[in-house]
Amino acid sequence: MDSALIKQIAQQLGFDACGIARVDRVNDEAMKRYHEWLASGKNGCMDWAQNHQAIRENPELLLEGARSVIVVAMNYYPHVFQPDSAPQFAYYAYGRDYHEVMKQRLWKLGEAIERETGHASRACVDSAPLRERYWAQRAGVGFIGWNNQLIIPGKGSYFFLGVLVTNLELEPDEPCLDHCLQCRACEKTCPSGALRCGETVDARRCLSCLTIEHKGDLPEWVKDVIGNRVYGCDECQKCCPHNRDAVGNTTPEFQPKPELLALTRDDILSMTQEQFSNIFSHSAVKRAKLAGLQRNASIIHNS
Ligand code: SF4
Ligand code: SF4
Repeated sequence: MDSALIKQIAQQLGFDACGIARVDRVNDEAMKRYHEWLASGKNGCMDWAQNHQAIRENPELLLEGARSVIVVAMNYYPHVFQPDSAPQFAYYAYGRDYHEVMKQRLWKLGEAIERETGHASRACVDSAPLRERYWAQRAGVGFIGWNNQLIIPGKGSYFFLGVLVTNLELEPDEPCLDHCLQCRACEKTCPSGALRCGETVDARRCLSCLTIEHKGDLPEWVKDVIGNRVYGCDECQKCCPHNRDAVGNTTPEFQPKPELLALTRDDILSMTQEQFSNIFSHSAVKRAKLAGLQRNASIIHNS
């Protein structure tokens, strides 16, 4: 089983991109940047970012005898959109939770490897302390833009990433050496000043982190910049010229429920737990819980 066959199977499983890197320690520059991000406190409420530093630096600790890192990507750019006046959900949350969708497909890829070669694999979709964007760049899938997103050349950044770490030795791809256009549109468009081009995101000011991850009351200043973003924020992607030609995804699981597209602010504010579960039971939105969503809805306004 070689790299070409792995990529063929990945494509058959519905992945839009696939690249392979050799297992190695994460390079010093990337780890230094990460440690500086933590030391500055910019990880904000993402306390988990401080855990498992040794694994974060060395994927071999995730799977004994690991030889290759297979990185896959799936498009989540929507075909249909909420009305502009509706409380806005980040595009990635329109459909079924990508963790579920991608993991099941990665497990199938791992099973194929085991069946053909007897080698073990471990699937990770935001579920292990792995530097996914770093490995995506190493595996030739894309580059990290000034908006801190992984950008696939010619396709953009509306992609979920998943990783399969495997004991199978595979021919690696060349790292992606492209870089973003450095136009600064993302920095200028960010509603809350969380982005400075060339630097890491300040999660303490990022509306995506605040509306999804933050527990308890939001800082007062958020009211002035939240607009009608009730769950997440896509501004630093929407403005990026690399996303100009984004194409709507065709994955059935990622298509939005009509109930989500039709939601109003009043619907959210009066929503019962049962209604929330019906709409969001297999959605990433359940991460914020009903209380978090209603907290956000209580302060949004049309910008
Ligand atoms: S908006 Fe401009 S600076 Fe920001 S990531 Fe895109 S190309 Fe780079
Ligand atoms: S997600 Fe929104 S708030 Fe966060 S950095 Fe991007 S534009 Fe700024």
